Parts: sequence; C-alpha cells; structure tokens
Amino acid sequence: MLNRFTARPRHWALLFITSFSLVLGIAVYLVSTPPAVDESAPNMSEVLEALEATDFHNALIPPLQPPPDWEQYTLQAGDRLSHLWHEKWHLPLATLYTLLENREGAQHLNRVRPGQHIEWLASRDGQLLALRIWQSRAQGSEWLRESSGFSFRELTSQREVRLLRLEGTLNGILVNSLQDMPEIAGQQGAIAAALDRHLPLRRDARDGDQFSLLIEQEWLSNDPTPYSTRLLAFDYKGDRMQVRAARHQDGRFYTPEGVSLIPPFDRIPLAQRFRISSGFNLNRRHPITGRVQPHYGTDFATPVGTPVVAPADGRIIRRGWHPYGGNYLVIDHGQGFETRYLHLHRMYVNRGQDVRRGQQIGQTGNTGRSTGPHLHYELHINGRPVDAMRAELPSVEKLEGNDLREFKEQSQRLFAGLDNRMNLKEVAQLLPQSR
Ligand SMILES: [Zn+2]
Repeated sequence: MLNRFTARPRHWALLFITSFSLVLGIAVYLVSTPPAVDESAPNMSEVLEALEATDFHNALIPPLQPPPDWEQYTLQAGDRLSHLWHEKWHLPLATLYTLLENREGAQHLNRVRPGQHIEWLASRDGQLLALRIWQSRAQGSEWLRESSGFSFRELTSQREVRLLRLEGTLNGILVNSLQDMPEIAGQQGAIAAALDRHLPLRRDARDGDQFSLLIEQEWLSNDPTPYSTRLLAFDYKGDRMQVRAARHQDGRFYTPEGVSLIPPFDRIPLAQRFRISSGFNLNRRHPITGRVQPHYGTDFATPVGTPVVAPADGRIIRRGWHPYGGNYLVIDHGQGFETRYLHLHRMYVNRGQDVRRGQQIGQTGNTGRSTGPHLHYELHINGRPVDAMRAELPSVEKLEGNDLREFKEQSQRLFAGLDNRMNLKEVAQLLPQSR
C-alpha cells in the first residue's frame, strides 16, 4: 500500500477520500435517517432481500485482497471499446458516456485503434477511478476521478521500460523476503501480492524455497518513481511446488508449455440448473428508500438440502454464520478468483481445507435473513464482485494455435531473461512496441 502511495499519491488520496466519504455517508445515513414509511404497506420479502444484499457484503466480509491494482489491455483488431468496457472490464457504461461527453474524451475515446494500450484503476465496487490510453510510448491521455466528474491531462513524457531480475530465498512471508531489495523499494507489497495471486503460497510455500522474478518497470522521464511495476515471469522452486510461468497478453500466467495457472471454472456451483430468483445487479434500488443498493450475487431458488459444489479447485478461507447471510463459506481459487455461498443449511468443509472442482461443500438452505430457500452465490475477481453468470471464466487450460505460438515466442525471451541467458536490455527491446 505504501508503495502505491508513494508512486501515485493523487490516486491514493482520491481512493482514500472516496472510501472515507462512502463510510461516512453510510454512517450518517444509518444514524440520521429514520426508516422511510411508504404509503403502501412495504413488501417485507423485498425489504429483507434488499437488506441481505447490502448489509451482508458491506458489513460482514472485509476485503482480503490488496488494494485495487491497475489493470491493462492492448486493443486487438475488431475490439469495440463499449463492449470491452462493459462485458470484459465490468465498468459502468454510464462512465464511458460521461467521458465521451467532453471534447477530449470524445477525441481520444472515439479514435481508439488496435495496438493502443489502455490502463485503468477501478474501485472495489466497480467504479472507474483512473483511465489512461496510450497512443504511443510517449503520448497518452489520462482521466482521473475527482469529487465531481473527471479531470483530464495529456501525458507527453517519454516512457522507458526497464527490466529487473530478482532472486531470493523464502524466509517467512514473501513480502519480508523481498524487503531488502532496493531496486523495488516501495513496490514489495505489490509484487508479493502479484505472486500470491498466481501461486498457492499460503498453502505450499516453505522457508528456504528459491525464487527468481522478472519484473518490468516503466518510468516517465519527469517522475522520480516508477510509473508502473509489473511481474512478467517467475520461477519458483520449493519442496511442495515447482512452478515456472510467464505473463501472456491476456494478463494471465502460463507455464512454458502454455498451460494456465488458473483452475478451470464451472458457471454454477450446483449439480443441476435452478431458477435464478434475483440476478447480479449493481443498480438495484431499495424497494422503500429508492436508494441504489447493489445485489452482488446471483440467487438460485433451490429446495433446502440441494448439494452445493465447488465450481473450481480452491481453498476454504472462511466458514461462519451471520445474522443476514446465515451459514456461509468463502473459497479462494487463486489468481484473484474468490467465490462466496450464503444461507447454507449444512457445511461439509472447514476453514483451511482444500477443495476440488465438483466436490460437495454443503447444502443450500434458508438460514440468516432469507426470504425463502435459496443459494446466494458471488464471484469476486481481483477483489471486486462481478456477475458470475456473465463473467469470462477460466476455461482454456492450455493455449492453442496462434495464441500458443505468440505466447511461446514472447515467453521464450522472458524466460531467457529470467534465467540470465539473455541481456535484460535486449529482452526489453523485444517486448511488443505497442505497449
Ligand atoms: Zn442474494
């Protein structure tokens, strides 16, 4: 967190202010607003459903992931910005329209083309905080969320990419093992988090494990700290795991053979289909107050006792009970994927236990504040709830065709750099120029 703060004080100040205002807003609302009385008798089930949807998520389970990280994408031929924006990046379309309303926005956003590099930072609840579009390495546009609307600036400084190779031995937790590496001063937390996202460190890491990391830093000519730091490849050798992987253009990590590190995912955590009684909805309005109270999950209407199965391999990181959520479980699937199950009747797994895809973890029920037997199911990607019925789920276990060829070509160089078989300056020069 500290590193991000030093690197981008404005964003963190913004993020802090946003979160703080949100918490303050909720507090003020809770303290000052008497329950609104509607003329018509309130529909109790709707009220309870709304309560379940909001209070549970906001109050019960604090985020486990590190603060939101910059995400990035290089435009491909045939991409439509509005489609990517909404379907792939899960950003509100209304924000895109807001940006398009002013002159600079229209000028830059209407003219995106293949090869352009886009980076964005989103808050936990899916709001855009910052956006950068690079026309070239030296020419970019940046939007930052302000208290009202977005500020805009042109980025004209030269960008320089430098690669770093770090070697270490695990001693305690990873971030401590990176502590005395001056090249990444202030960035240790982010790098440890990136690796944690791709490896089952909490389960399989042991003191004495050896690792090497290939890290990309981008510098703007007039900034004293790196503008971005990214893990490109790593090699991890330990008693319980030996993994070697490189980042592909889709942002995921694959082994040298092109096998994904993310376990494949099933769409629903049930052995059969059931009616969806309430879908994921970020704009759902409270039936009485009319305030927007998002529903962060998908509700399946199921009879009590219906088996719930893990949609992918993972580890149970929470098991508990909550007045609104009832019996609940949370699974960490690695690489930023997490799933949550509420209102369970029975739970068959304990905290800390590893589960396999398809394994029965419990039974659906009607516990907590629930209006009828159902399963409330949530999928979180990189700390943000997304629509589990529409999200792009890891399904390809192995890259194929062109994708595999491109990955092999790129990753060969990255691995050569990682293994010290190739000069890092040369490797940097061979990275795609469009970025
Ligand atoms: Zn629900």
